[in-house]
Amino acid sequence: MKNILITGGAGYIGSHTAVELIHAGYGVVIADNLSNADTTCLEGVKKITGRDIPFYKADCCRKDQLLPIFREHRIDGVIHFAAFKAVGESVEKPLMYYHNNLLSLVTLLEVMVENGGGHVVFSSSATVYGQPPVLPVTEDTPRMPATSPYGNTKQICEDILADAVKAYASVKVVILRYFNPIGAHPSALIGELPRGIPNNLVPFITQTAAGVRKELHIFGSNYNTPDGTALRDYIDVVDLAAAHVSALKRMEAYDKPGLCEVFNVGTGKPLSVMELVKKFETVNHLSLKYRITGRREGDVEAVWADTSLANRVLSWKARRPLEETLANAWAWERNIRGIT
Ligand code: UDP
Repeated sequence: MKNILITGGAGYIGSHTAVELIHAGYGVVIADNLSNADTTCLEGVKKITGRDIPFYKADCCRKDQLLPIFREHRIDGVIHFAAFKAVGESVEKPLMYYHNNLLSLVTLLEVMVENGGGHVVFSSSATVYGQPPVLPVTEDTPRMPATSPYGNTKQICEDILADAVKAYASVKVVILRYFNPIGAHPSALIGELPRGIPNNLVPFITQTAAGVRKELHIFGSNYNTPDGTALRDYIDVVDLAAAHVSALKRMEAYDKPGLCEVFNVGTGKPLSVMELVKKFETVNHLSLKYRITGRREGDVEAVWADTSLANRVLSWKARRPLEETLANAWAWERNIRGIT
């Protein structure tokens, strides 16, 4: 059995990926410093899988905290989620973002190389494309200069990984560029748990439906899109988690050194903010209080993925219908709020 270390495994995408990995027959070890997560999702993973997963409260910037994990487990691969991810916060605290997101990757790679290398799946983001001139974006669409320190850390991390595989034959890398992950596990035992006011659309919607927020603000209705609201590619978090399993399989099957591949992970379908809001209402038989406000600074008008490379090379594609995804998102919110 291959053992995979999931950094940031107590978080939203990390916990869903832990479940998919276990179902695919992998051994899982989780490291998380719990800076933006608590143990709720770890307990959920345990309930869903029936497994006691080794957990380390560890900061990936700290070699002394990573080394015991590699001493106590044979680690064949690492899925590196652990990072700060709030765009606005990164503008206010750029040094904190550069320190954490870059140092954690470098430290992790150093520890891996010292321990014989292995496979790395890295969480990147569609943010590296900025507002692309042509849609949908392929992996060859040039990256745009980052508009935030957060986006810049993703670009720099991609570059660090590309350089690392050239120098260390023992390391293989797959970079996944996530579009907009939404939804929750169908068990409603794990899902997104934003701290404070959610930045992302779907948690804001579910919290509004739950009465935690007064009303949803729709940021901008004068974009050059069919209904004037911005277009994104919303990918079910369980489908996204499955892409990490496919990425590991890809590296296991690739027998030459120097692998560093990049894949878009989305549905390939654009959806407007208004369409998503309406769909959420219909699927869950409720009505959301919302108001159209001005555009949010830094938002792009439209971005969605061409996923044909992942479809072909990873044999992966998004499967879950949006209706199911939005029903799961609401079931999770109800579960954590105790709403029947
Ligand atoms: N959005 C919105 N209201 C919110 C949060 C987001 O209208 O409370 C819009 C946002 O302007 C963007 C889309 O929803 O067009 C997705 O935003 P999100 O923050 O979820 O992801 P992003 O694409 O910015 O990474």
